[in-house]
Amino acid sequence: MKYVDEYRDGDTAKHYLAAIKAITTRPWTIMEVCGGQTHAIVRFGIADLLPPAINLVHGPGCPVCVTPLEMIDKAIAISSQPNVIFCSFGDMLRVPGSTQDLQSIRAQGGDVRCVYSPLDCLQIARDNPEKQVVFFAIGFETTAPGNAMLVYRAAEEALNNLSVLVSHVLVPPAIATIMSSSTSSSPSSSTSSSQTPSSQNSSSQAKVHGFLAAGHVCAIMGTQEYIPLAQHHQIPIVITGFEPLDILQGLYMCIKQLESGRCEVENQYVRVVTEQGNLSARELMTRVFRVTSRQWRGIGDIPQSGLSLAHQYASFDAEQRFDIADADIIVKEPPECISGLILQGLKKPKQCTAFGKTCTPERPLGATMVSGEGACAAYYKYTG
Ligand code: SF4
Repeated sequence: MKYVDEYRDGDTAKHYLAAIKAITTRPWTIMEVCGGQTHAIVRFGIADLLPPAINLVHGPGCPVCVTPLEMIDKAIAISSQPNVIFCSFGDMLRVPGSTQDLQSIRAQGGDVRCVYSPLDCLQIARDNPEKQVVFFAIGFETTAPGNAMLVYRAAEEALNNLSVLVSHVLVPPAIATIMSSSTSSSPSSSTSSSQTPSSQNSSSQAKVHGFLAAGHVCAIMGTQEYIPLAQHHQIPIVITGFEPLDILQGLYMCIKQLESGRCEVENQYVRVVTEQGNLSARELMTRVFRVTSRQWRGIGDIPQSGLSLAHQYASFDAEQRFDIADADIIVKEPPECISGLILQGLKKPKQCTAFGKTCTPERPLGATMVSGEGACAAYYKYTG
């Protein structure tokens, strides 16, 4: 298959693995930002093929996983109301809220629907003028343009029975937060590190030396906003795709920078990502959304890390329309779930005592076991 088989070629993979082995002289910890990359790494056993000095840790780039429990509880509260059609992408239906999930609301008779595009909600709203249609608008810069288009077109049509519950997050502020909390000062200072990958795995501190940034996010946003991050935190950032050879080439580029003391933004995913990104999508996002602070599940509040509706579109805000006060939401996380640490690269899924025992994809305790991009789901599916 075009763009798949050619990026899974075994001989080319061996070439990159040999090249990585040849240039690696010191321990490096590299974080892949995106859950799609995490799944490729675990599925194809990439971590086991690398030199032992290379430690891969997983980042916060799973949109379902970082959606705050409070927002899921709000979604459940709204979807429980009569005359509401609540629409969401499929993964969100099974993410546990404090006491139940959206799927159980549907089982109790609530009209909770899985949609494949946010724009599907336009027709649902047209077809059901007597009902309130709500879309759960979550995700990173990748889903924001489509969700912005939904609001833009709803406004154009004056569809007053449609609103969105917004929980959008932005990648660069999350990278900055992880770097700020990391004890790693610079690649060069890490040369004295005596940590082995296994001891890093159990460390309570992230020591991230380099990032593989998410290619699809940069397909929208371009590469420019990562340059000040790389410069300020003195860390290489390689924008990388999602197939095994993308990951291996991205790792090679990142390690090459680390070994030579460079801290730059490089683009491995040139077949998709341009410097400017998708200008039309960015313009629509800027028109419909405004940047705001956001809670990240398991991580906490990150300043200027999310999107809310711009004032011009505030009437489409489901939180305002349904008047779900924060005081009405009592958030209760399962105490054994360490997904917040996993999302920051501080732990790996098999270090959770609940993994595969009290937490499975059939009976998940945390979002990272539910989502198609969740790290726990990847380890369960591919490593058992
Ligand atoms: S295995 Fe389950 S309980 Fe443990 S961190 Fe992952 S989602 Fe949470």
